[in-house]
Amino acid sequence: MDSTLLPSSLESLLTEELPKEAAKIDEENSVPYDFWEKLREMGFFSACLPRELGGLGLGFSGLVELARLSGRSSMAVAAVGASHTAVALLVYRHGGELAVELLPRMATGELVAAVAITELGGGTDLASSIKAECRMEKDLCLVSGEKVFVTAATYAGIFLVLVRSKGEWRSILVPRSGNMTVEKLPLVVFRGAGTSRIMFDKVRVPRKNVLEGDGLKISLEAINTGRLAYAAAGLGAAEGLLRYAVLKADKRKLFGKRLLDMQGIRWKLAELYVKTRTVGSLLKATAKKADDEGYVDPEEAAVAKISASELASDTAVLARQLDGGRGFMEGSLPERMVRDSSALGVGEGATEALLDFLSRALERKTLSR
Ligand SMILES: Cc1cc2nc3c(=O)[nH]c(=O)nc-3n(C[C@H](O)[C@H](O)[C@H](O)COP(=O)(O)OP(=O)(O)OC[C@H]3O[C@@H](n4cnc5c(N)ncnc54)[C@H](O)[C@@H]3O)c2cc1C
Repeated sequence: MDSTLLPSSLESLLTEELPKEAAKIDEENSVPYDFWEKLREMGFFSACLPRELGGLGLGFSGLVELARLSGRSSMAVAAVGASHTAVALLVYRHGGELAVELLPRMATGELVAAVAITELGGGTDLASSIKAECRMEKDLCLVSGEKVFVTAATYAGIFLVLVRSKGEWRSILVPRSGNMTVEKLPLVVFRGAGTSRIMFDKVRVPRKNVLEGDGLKISLEAINTGRLAYAAAGLGAAEGLLRYAVLKADKRKLFGKRLLDMQGIRWKLAELYVKTRTVGSLLKATAKKADDEGYVDPEEAAVAKISASELASDTAVLARQLDGGRGFMEGSLPERMVRDSSALGVGEGATEALLDFLSRALERKTLSR
């Protein structure tokens, strides 16, 4: 996956400047203001949004590129882009007039969006863990409850929140307000993504912000988009780490030859290269299908995230191994990526839960023939 759909200015921001900022973002657990402004100006928040509402119209394929190039050095930046874009594409599909109201501001990055679905009771088991609720009044609804692990929350001005209302699922777009408390969580992964716990205390939301339709299905659609983006971030991480590993193995001479000349190392690198190429093709096809259909197929998203998260973790561990003792120093790419890639197996759905889902799909398809 060498070519990119993104404008060249955004591409070079993500491939040339972000790698220089990424260690600082991780260390300070925040994206510096100046870099954030560059992201805004270069179209990071607008790339995938529809043209008629201020975006560049690159859709799901654009999101895969955005997350892949960000993920080469910063999973935090990739995750912020994933959350924002997942909400934007969802609002475009289900929001009606809300899309016209919100997307132009989301495209400029003036309004950043986050996804607030998980609660402490168990993100994997959404049906029994969601306690957040909304009480419908005449033109308003009052949202109460608590959400955890909300990526991009410290930057966001609007949140996609999954709640129950009189036993029904609702997905609501909740603008940030005084009745919300956003508390940054001390995560050791995706540092800089602003991941937070949010308390909603009878937050007043216009009734028109309740998305039409089954709220659970709508929120799951956002999760699937995020899943595809996390897979792309994992692919990007693997690409960045493979490059890092090859450069290190070229420079390091031991026993009179380059590490790169040792057969055991060459084959490990080649095996990861094969998987990187395979996952790259898979993601391209999945994004293309999503662009054609308007949403990400849940099965494709699960396959993509499982494959890419394992690939990213394996590549991070090899890159760190080739670095010897230096790979355990703070601030190096493999050190950060060993941490961050391990979170890809949990964020946007734990690998085990996705395997469970896929095993049921396999059983259904096989036994129905
Ligand atoms: C970096 C990161 C970013 C995130 N961003 C967001 C966000 O923006 N918005 C949001 O709402 N949430 C977000 N989350 C939350 C994420 O979606 C949940 O962490 C995830 O769904 C798992 O839920 P949980 O943490 O409650 O773990 P649990 O549901 O308690 O699961 C714990 C573990 O149980 C195992 N398990 C689960 N199901 C099965 C099964 N069927 N079979 C076997 N084993 C199983 C898995 O190992 C799993 O990790 C994020 C999480 C991370 C780590």
